[in-house]
Amino acid sequence: MKFSREIERTARYDIAVVGGGVAGCAAALAAARCGAKTALIERDGVLGGTAGVGLVTPISSVNDRRGRPFGGILKEFCGEVVRLSEYCRPPDDKGPLSKTSVPHIAKYVLLKLLDDAGADIRFHTVFIDALTEKNMISGIVCHDKSGLILIKADQYIDASGDADLTVAAGEETVLGSEPGVYESLYQTGLDKVHESDSSYSVGEAVGLMQPCSVFFTMGGVDMSKAQFYNNKPLTYETFGLTRESYAELFYAGECGFEQDDSDRLPLPQGRVLVFNGSRGDHAVINMSRVVGIDGSNAEDISRGELLGQKQVLHLVDFLRRFVPGFENSYLIESSTSLGIRETRRLVGRSVLTGRQVIDGVSFPDTVAHGNYIIDIHDPTGKHKAIGGHIKGDYYEIPYGALLPKTLNNLLVCGRCISADHVAHSATRIQGSCMLTGQASGTAAAMAAKGGIAPAEVNVSALCERLIADGVNL
Ligand SMILES: Cc1cc2nc3c(=O)[nH]c(=O)nc-3n(C[C@H](O)[C@H](O)[C@H](O)COP(=O)(O)OP(=O)(O)OC[C@H]3O[C@@H](n4cnc5c(N)ncnc54)[C@H](O)[C@@H]3O)c2cc1C
Repeated sequence: MKFSREIERTARYDIAVVGGGVAGCAAALAAARCGAKTALIERDGVLGGTAGVGLVTPISSVNDRRGRPFGGILKEFCGEVVRLSEYCRPPDDKGPLSKTSVPHIAKYVLLKLLDDAGADIRFHTVFIDALTEKNMISGIVCHDKSGLILIKADQYIDASGDADLTVAAGEETVLGSEPGVYESLYQTGLDKVHESDSSYSVGEAVGLMQPCSVFFTMGGVDMSKAQFYNNKPLTYETFGLTRESYAELFYAGECGFEQDDSDRLPLPQGRVLVFNGSRGDHAVINMSRVVGIDGSNAEDISRGELLGQKQVLHLVDFLRRFVPGFENSYLIESSTSLGIRETRRLVGRSVLTGRQVIDGVSFPDTVAHGNYIIDIHDPTGKHKAIGGHIKGDYYEIPYGALLPKTLNNLLVCGRCISADHVAHSATRIQGSCMLTGQASGTAAAMAAKGGIAPAEVNVSALCERLIADGVNL
């Protein structure tokens, strides 16, 4: 590859982590706490990724379904976020404090933990290419305000969410759904929680990805009323509308507000979905939905940002006009980046399947747990979401799902680990992302220290270290 600008700077680390979302932060923190000289490379100026610039506040999959915490950095992070969230409301506000994270606090907590651990956070630094030699990454080229920089490390971790490093280094990845996946989903004995049933079919369509959303927050909300309609089936009649009166709304007919022949109220997600915010009258809204966007495609992302941002004001108008509890509400902020649920996934040494997640299959190399439901926001936009509860108290994630098949100094964590479309709908959740992050950072540090490949790390020793660091395995 030829660049018009020279690469004039080189930095040297034991571990280089690409991506400062919750997964990358946990990876870099774990590696730094193991004594490795660690770089965290983040294209934005804040940490948290989807949880930061994406404003996604709920941290799901923190405990198993009996309430036993998964522990580790995840537990430490959640504890700090809840403790410091007090700063996001007036001291005399004694309303219910959400147990979910607040982006402003989450990004501060991540920064503080990493700084205390001595990690080198390289903000406003975009990973652009990988140099490889004989199944090894020999360096990664990044761009920052000062120009191009070559970052060299013993071990690399891809926490970009989109598997950017994995793809650039030539490793196999996959995008979207496999054929027939929805037809087989309900034959697994899934305990349904979403509206779709076994009649749902997209035939042999492949490569379908979950839609994107722009989160936003509103103030002046009466939360005791606002959540009443959460996830309920909605018709025109629910809010005293008719097809004709709906058609007069200035946004009717565009961006997810298109009417069809049914009685169902046309909303981007087809539902009201509102969470508690940081103070009693604040709401976090997850109601935008942009379908047909590949978040690893540059043109698609720009289109998605445009449609998603348009939806925000339309939804604010809709909520204020029609939904009880929003009469005196106002928009506070919307996410500065489109929330992307699904893009490329590693095809690793193990591929975690939806069936294994639903059945809670045990693996000899389990390094992380999760409890989240199978939760596929309908890629076609016709249904709210597809999925349901897993059978057991938790599911397991094997170390093999973090390991590429060929490269000997790369680990993958977070949203882009090796899982099929259905399994990914559970493992993409923040709790699981942080746990795979901690496992990858610890493993990378062990590999760097021992001068071995991540695949050669003794998994029992890795698990012992994770347990010593508070992870409940
Ligand atoms: C709309 C929406 C709602 C959700 N709801 C929930 C929920 O209720 N509960 C829950 O637990 N989870 C939820 N999730 C899922 C969860 O938030 C994400 O899957 C998770 O946060 C992903 O974390 P990550 O660190 O793997 O990836 P990301 O958050 O995507 O972070 C990747 C990071 O890498 C950086 N990066 C990417 N490419 C480069 C590059 N080339 N160079 C440098 N940096 C780069 C990005 O800037 C980002 O900071 C939701 C997701 C979305 C989109």
